[in-house]
Amino acid sequence: MRWGTVGPVLLIVGLLFLFLSKAGEPQTQYAPLGAYFDYAEASVPVNAVTPLPPAEFQAIQRANADRSTAQIDLVLEAELYRDDLGPLGAELQAALDYVQERTGIRLADRIKLIISQDAGCGFHGLTYSDVRVIYIYSCAGVPRQRVVNIAAHEFVHQLEQDRYGPPHLSADLVLSEGFATWGAGKYWLGGNPDFATFARQYRDTGAALPLGTHYASVGAGGMNVLYYEWAAFVDYLLATYGRERFDALYLTGGGQQPGAAQYATIYSRPFSQLEAEWQGWLGQ
Ligand SMILES: [Zn+2]
Repeated sequence: MRWGTVGPVLLIVGLLFLFLSKAGEPQTQYAPLGAYFDYAEASVPVNAVTPLPPAEFQAIQRANADRSTAQIDLVLEAELYRDDLGPLGAELQAALDYVQERTGIRLADRIKLIISQDAGCGFHGLTYSDVRVIYIYSCAGVPRQRVVNIAAHEFVHQLEQDRYGPPHLSADLVLSEGFATWGAGKYWLGGNPDFATFARQYRDTGAALPLGTHYASVGAGGMNVLYYEWAAFVDYLLATYGRERFDALYLTGGGQQPGAAQYATIYSRPFSQLEAEWQGWLGQ
């Protein structure tokens, strides 16, 4: 992949919950947190390798924060959550504190988090980690808890950049998305004990996908499956082989292709064998 020329990578979050069908229709009631894990509501995933346009970045740099926390400058591009800014800022910083603790990575510098709204009123997140800008696209009626949940995953993408540097931008997706999902922990577990629980459920219901599947080919439901499976696989790698080797693996590249990092070099076994051993680890 031509990282030198394409600029920053957009790492687009996996759980993209569908508000397209509800766009413009005020919801009469905020959905409970559990609805966040209703896969039937997942929307179409997007992946792109696109730099943040310089003019847009300059505008972002000039923008005054609507709310600042210890590490986050929160900017409202759309009139969303303005009445909730105090609690939202506190909840976002709490999520950032949580993922830093969980991943053992400290944010290298402040980040700017922009809450915006796209034409389709879709809900998703983007991290331009090289310029420390995170976008969350939301819409009226989307509970702010969902913003916090998705931000937890995006924060980890920034932590990946801070720990691994530019190689992060060409990392194997199993590792970059798996670690971001694993790192988001409780914000993505929906009360379940761990990510292996999800992977076992996919296996038992026939929804499981091979770990080397690219999410661009499987639609929204498949993308959700992959993100949770990758998180469970990252959990397995960390628990079995430790953090040091995981970090070494992360740096071996892979051009954003799932399963393309140098697993055999680091773990003395190919990706396919690790996948089989992971399935054994999931157990019954
Ligand atoms: Zn992501």
